[in-house]
Amino acid sequence: MECVNFRNYMHKYINGELSEELKLEFEQHRDECPMCKMFLEEELYLESLIKDIKEKETEYICKESNKRESFNEKNTYSRKQAVNTIKVMYYIAPAIVIFLIG
Ligand SMILES: [Zn+2]
Repeated sequence: MECVNFRNYMHKYINGELSEELKLEFEQHRDECPMCKMFLEEELYLESLIKDIKEKETEYICKESNKRESFNEKNTYSRKQAVNTIKVMYYIAPAIVIFLIG
């Protein structure tokens, strides 16, 4: 395999999309050509970094949506409290008015 082909096949190899035959040729070239081996290792490193970032991103989005949910819970809770306060006021207000008027 030529170096040019090796680099063209690199992504397919990483994604496991190469046929058995090409894979063998690819791996043979990797073992014979230090430059391409270095290239491949760099690419694998980059891929792992990207994967890591994507995982962290998903984790972050999950955490954020959890936060938002608990915020909504708090929000409905305080809304309930407000409604209760208004109800209490509704009952107390006439009593106060009656008390003031005598
Ligand atoms: Zn090469």
